[in-house]
Amino acid sequence: MSFYYNRTKIVATMGPASAKKDVLLAMVRAGLNVCRLNFSHGKPEDHKKVIDVIREINAEYKTNVGILADLQGPKIRIGLVKDGGIHLKNGSRINITTHESIGDDNQIYITYETFPQDVQANEIILLDDGKLQLRVIETNRKDTVVCEVVHGGILTSRKGVNLPNTKVSIPSLTPEDIVNLHFALEQDVDWIGLSFVRTGEDIVDLKRIIKESGKGARVIAKIEKPEAIENIDSIIAATDGVMVARGDLGVEMPLEEVPLLQKMIARKCRDASKPVIVATQMLESMITTPRPTRAEVNDVANSVLDGADAVMLSGETSVGEFPVIVIETMAKIVRNVEDLGYPYHAPKAEREDPTSPNYLSDALCSSAVYLAKQTNAAGVVSMTTSGYTAFEISSFRPKAATYIFTSNKQLLNALSLVWGVRAFYYDQLESTDKTIADVNNILKEQSLINVGDVIINTAAVPIVKQGKTNMIKVSVVE
Ligand code: PEP
Repeated sequence: MSFYYNRTKIVATMGPASAKKDVLLAMVRAGLNVCRLNFSHGKPEDHKKVIDVIREINAEYKTNVGILADLQGPKIRIGLVKDGGIHLKNGSRINITTHESIGDDNQIYITYETFPQDVQANEIILLDDGKLQLRVIETNRKDTVVCEVVHGGILTSRKGVNLPNTKVSIPSLTPEDIVNLHFALEQDVDWIGLSFVRTGEDIVDLKRIIKESGKGARVIAKIEKPEAIENIDSIIAATDGVMVARGDLGVEMPLEEVPLLQKMIARKCRDASKPVIVATQMLESMITTPRPTRAEVNDVANSVLDGADAVMLSGETSVGEFPVIVIETMAKIVRNVEDLGYPYHAPKAEREDPTSPNYLSDALCSSAVYLAKQTNAAGVVSMTTSGYTAFEISSFRPKAATYIFTSNKQLLNALSLVWGVRAFYYDQLESTDKTIADVNNILKEQSLINVGDVIINTAAVPIVKQGKTNMIKVSVVE
């Protein structure tokens, strides 16, 4: 059975449209690399079913499909409203209350207890992805905020609330997130996504809990708030990966700023060797039609050009009518950009801090990729235990295929998110010569490299110590 491998990875949100094994397998064969479980929807038992199917596919077909558990974070919503929908009229007044009640023309409930204390007059409240807009007139600082409707319309139950100007005091991990986090960690997911990250500290707090659990899941910081943009450097320093969550980012920031923010975040992530996912509405029209719009095709292609490690699908694969066709379409768009060679060897800031503990291995990874370019090598083949070398090699965007061998089982699936990387399990770390011969043979047996190909191997010598990468070998496959 054949599987398509793209360099720029594809993340797909799971849902009723994609949960069945035959559909998911077809998606994986078409190029899906990471399944996203959206904890804003569905119960843990629903997510568990999908996790079991992914694990079955990985075991049966020797694939490394990764799992990203995306926590809701401090998402604010309104409560239920009368008759399932109320009409907010331009210029009218409406109260927002912290007492749980059914909303009507006079008042709506908000799931944010300290909202009247945190909000200030004149701040903006956006409802339903920014479709409706309110302005704060006054707050009683206890339980009620009086607002004027700026842009009205129909408001239905449980719609999301965005507060672009308000300093929200809700903790980054809500009690519900903590329950979902422990469930996801028990399931040994590869990545944990945290929504509405505001500071690097939010990531440090999440990582502390993961460490205490003894699990190895890595963290994706979802960038969707103005505060996250202000603190982007400390967030990137603290996290393992980033998502440009354009849905909420485009509500909380002026929409026209999102394209350049995407470029800025992608560049900073690659300079820091942290994977970056570009998310939301990439092929939105394919929820209901089998062909995307020209603008959507442009968006996916331009995200690859911006340096995304991965492009993400949401409703297209969770509830859409064409979950397999949408993966095929995305893979084709990605492949066309890759075939023309655009993402390769794109310039990256060299780290020039000789006091950094990784200074020498970083220089070696950069040189390995440069050597691969000079020799037109078929593969950069690296050993890693922590994953560091894989992230680093990938960040230089080698044109040569990147084959990573590791004895760290959890890393195999986590690396599915990382640009260009294909990971393999290998644990016979007896001698450097034997290891290099073995891993090259494994690639040869799978016809991934052939006699006469130039190969760049990197490793940490002595290999039994599993230290930092410190060796490059250039050879021709015999
Ligand atoms: C987004 O806002 O773009 C996003 C990916 O987050 P969510 O789907 O959780 O709203």
